[in-house]
Amino acid sequence: NEVLRLEGLEKGYNRGKPNEIMVLRGANLTIPRGQVVALVAPSGAGKSTLLHIAGLLDTPDAGRVIVNGQDMTGAKDGARTAARRQALGFVYQFHHLLPEFTALENIVLPQLANASPRKAAEARARDLLARVGLAERASHRPSEMSGGEQQRVAFCRALANAPALMLADEPTGNLDPATSDTVFDALMELVRATGLSALIATHNLELAARMDRVLRLEDGKLVEAT
Ligand code: ADP
Ligand code: ADP
Repeated sequence: NEVLRLEGLEKGYNRGKPNEIMVLRGANLTIPRGQVVALVAPSGAGKSTLLHIAGLLDTPDAGRVIVNGQDMTGAKDGARTAARRQALGFVYQFHHLLPEFTALENIVLPQLANASPRKAAEARARDLLARVGLAERASHRPSEMSGGEQQRVAFCRALANAPALMLADEPTGNLDPATSDTVFDALMELVRATGLSALIATHNLELAARMDRVLRLEDGKLVEAT
């Protein structure tokens, strides 16, 4: 029972040109349901490339991508978008909340786009906000919240449609160290409470050590950090 399987991924940029760069060289990864995996690597090693391929935002040059049991290798754009909406939740370094909408609406809107009734969507949004300690912030706009609060709302939005897998690229990278710790705690509680699986890229080795498993991206391959 796996939420993600990547087999033999290869990915390069500027293929066949003098400035060709091979980023992935046979990367393999299997994430069982419920597992939280840290992805650790220096800048430029290919973390974003890997997350974009796993998130069905980019395609590999070779290899297979299986998301939540569905083989997405060579799938058409429509199927990829549907799988993204149903199976995946995204978190970035910057929150990317819609500035003109409240915290609640930012979590409700993706559910309406996924055909949830408004009442159920609002109830779920309130429940998620309460879990990250933001019940009192439901009607605040992003500009009325701190950076840490904005990022906690972004976590709730990523979970709005109950994805099988959360993909996060430096989710606390934009915050000062103290805020980063509390926001990461909120993220881990949310992930544990919902039984979510996650692949979280981070530079922070202390945060990585608190996940179930730590992987390093080395020479275009994923290796277990022991
Ligand atoms: P990370 O997220 O670990 O910093 P990236 O996946 O963003 O790494 O990038 C890996 C390497 O691929 C870097 O050397 C980067 O400059 C290069 N790269 C990323 N995207 C492109 C692109 N669209 N065109 C050319 N090179 C790219
Ligand atoms: P929608 O029309 O529902 O926004 P999209 O295909 O644009 O459908 O997006 C589906 C999911 O993929 C969303 O969660 C969105 O945040 C994410 N997404 C789409 N395009 C990108 C991108 N270029 N970079 C990062 N995430 C993206």
